[in-house]
Amino acid sequence: MSAQVINGKEITGAYRAQIKEDVAKLAQQGVQPGLAVIIVGEDPASQVYVRNKAKACEEAGMYSEVHRLEAGVSEKEVLALIEKLNQSPKIHGILVQSPLPKHISEDKVVEAIAVEKDADCFHPVNVGNLMIGKEGPAPCTPAGVIAILKHIGVELAGKHAVVIGRSNIVGKPMAILLLREHATVTICHSKTANMAEITSQADILIAAVGKPRMIRKEHVKPGAIVIDVGINRLDTGKLAGDVDFDDVLDTASYITPVPGCVGPMTITILLKNTLDAASRSLKAQVNG
Ligand code: NDP
Repeated sequence: MSAQVINGKEITGAYRAQIKEDVAKLAQQGVQPGLAVIIVGEDPASQVYVRNKAKACEEAGMYSEVHRLEAGVSEKEVLALIEKLNQSPKIHGILVQSPLPKHISEDKVVEAIAVEKDADCFHPVNVGNLMIGKEGPAPCTPAGVIAILKHIGVELAGKHAVVIGRSNIVGKPMAILLLREHATVTICHSKTANMAEITSQADILIAAVGKPRMIRKEHVKPGAIVIDVGINRLDTGKLAGDVDFDDVLDTASYITPVPGCVGPMTITILLKNTLDAASRSLKAQVNG
């Protein structure tokens, strides 16, 4: 039987409608959540991502600022802009679009963002809080994946989830969130031996590799749920996931399409993080 293709539009639509309502409620109390996005250079994919984020903010009734800086901008100037945004009462979330040019340290930039305005959960303090289960922003892509799994009604407790990829922005936080949901978690990476043997035991398989269509039928247990985080641009200009969608379709029970599911859900969590940061700032004001 063919897998059910998860309807990303429906899921993001439902989440964003709720966020929009919550933004309106907060606005009635005098706070409009605001997101600032900094982009350095002209990378075309990054430009598209930033445009989509700003548009999503607008549609949710949030305030947004996009700071477009030239590729030659100094690290000092970027850090000074972040400091200004840290102080701005209009801004509750700050995001610096990666990749950054080589002469700018990603670590320094991430650490310069105020912990309470870190919209991506990249700041080491927030990463630490995530690890020990304390309140803070959600890592956008992994939290989006959990939201998708919950939306389709998957009971994660006791399930074997295999994550392919161990990056700081996707693979590792994905594993932490799955663990928090009481799944049994295995992480595969480029040095994993006999990967298909491991992935084909997964009830839930999450691919975050960055290699177009690498995951095929032989990697997937019949009936598994397959979540494709990958976004890879092919020579033809088309986008492809890390999963060979057509090859896996008859083996999986559910599968996410690329584009149109994990990507938009990632932006949705970014909005939610900004909204939550704004709510926390209002609470802090009220409590003095
Ligand atoms: P990274 O390149 O940082 O990490 C890739 C991971 O995949 C690494 O851990 C690497 O292992 C592992 N890997 C590479 N080759 C293999 C292999 N042959 N077998 C097993 N594991 C392998 O990528 P990201 O985590 O940043 O992104 C992954 C994908 O997700 C990309 O396509 C990216 O575009 C996409 N993405 C999508 C987002 C969305 O919103 N949908 C958001 C962020 C990313 P090792 O550590 O050993 O090198």
